[in-house]
Amino acid sequence: MIINALNYQKKNLSRFKKQLNYLYDNNKHYQEKIIENNIDLSSIKKITDITRLPLLTKQDLFNDYPYGFYSTETKNIVRYHATSGTTGKPLIVGFTKHDLITRNKMVIDICKKAGIKKNDVVQICVGYGMFTGAFSFHDALEKYGCTIIPTSSGNTEKQIFYMKTLHTTVLITSPSYAMHIYEVAKEMGIDIKDLNIRILKVGSELLTKEMRKRLQEAYGKKVVISQDYGMTETMGPGLGIECEYCDGLHLYTKNFVYELVDPITKMPTNKNVGELVISTLHNECLPLIRYATNDIVELDYTKCKCGNKAPRIKTVIGRCDDMIKCKGVKMFLCQIEDFILKNHFCTSNYEIILTTEKYIDKMKIEIESIHDFAEKDEKMTKKIEEQEKRLIEEFKSTFGIYAKILLVPPNSLKRQSGKVKRIKDLRKL
Ligand SMILES: [Zn+2]
Repeated sequence: MIINALNYQKKNLSRFKKQLNYLYDNNKHYQEKIIENNIDLSSIKKITDITRLPLLTKQDLFNDYPYGFYSTETKNIVRYHATSGTTGKPLIVGFTKHDLITRNKMVIDICKKAGIKKNDVVQICVGYGMFTGAFSFHDALEKYGCTIIPTSSGNTEKQIFYMKTLHTTVLITSPSYAMHIYEVAKEMGIDIKDLNIRILKVGSELLTKEMRKRLQEAYGKKVVISQDYGMTETMGPGLGIECEYCDGLHLYTKNFVYELVDPITKMPTNKNVGELVISTLHNECLPLIRYATNDIVELDYTKCKCGNKAPRIKTVIGRCDDMIKCKGVKMFLCQIEDFILKNHFCTSNYEIILTTEKYIDKMKIEIESIHDFAEKDEKMTKKIEEQEKRLIEEFKSTFGIYAKILLVPPNSLKRQSGKVKRIKDLRKL
């Protein structure tokens, strides 16, 4: 049986063609691309025909920076957001009034699906500024009728103070920061389970299975942990919706067409795993047709317990930047994180350091232990050594390479606010 995500999205063909023609008419770079590839747009007659169109890459969006790939005049733009630009210039995305309305509807939809209600008190603990995350939720949920506490990221003790004082019921944050809040609350003598939080909405980083488990333990069984997935290029959160069964992200086909391509050949693939390619359906400033996202995802074609039969994103395996190549072996950060968190004596704070020695790759992983062993204690030192040995052996049998693994005392790794960088690659220096 041929499984192809596109076959589930036939209904979107006419909307897709509308967006395609709009992009072609309003963007000279796209027009050139279509002419170069000798494509007749009227030959797109069924949904699978769209695979004949060229892929767009992030590089295309940088043409005539920053406005080159916009399909509207700048006077129509009411808001800018941007990517972090850690590897170069940030990608700046403009929004028209219509784009913001589209985004608000989408974010309200995903929040409703997560169980957020109009009377919820929502604390937004993600960085405000150029990123899409905080403002997406702020705009949408305020319109929806929620009460917003815009605490942004950092200053954790204050975050907990507001949570307690204003009876926060929904916390929007990243998985690692949610864990950090829990740790700080514990130090303050507060059990986070005693507060009013009923929904933990996490995003901006991968939520691995093990991390979900840890969060559930920390915040209590009753708290719903709902993840969101998105990227600045596609307006922010909303690319996937988690239903109450939390068994993969449902595709948001109201706004997007989803496909998978082989990450190397960039050809359409019928496999479950591949690079996610997104087309927008309603965008005005930055319509995207077959945008290669760089994210490797796994699709699940089984029927969800909620009754929805359409495929869903089972897991985002990793962004291409989260892929580590060491001694020729490819690993994704989420695989390493799952490996670490399977061990009860490891916390979720860790750092991976890559170096070279005489042209050979070396990998070191420092993980904060749950035990405080800062003081000399022979019995504890022996226990830590045994745990390190076990981790090294298990790592070798899981990934096939040696990594030096060190357990360090709690709170000895530097804390980062916002998107946490776990990989320190010093090989290029
Ligand atoms: Zn479902």
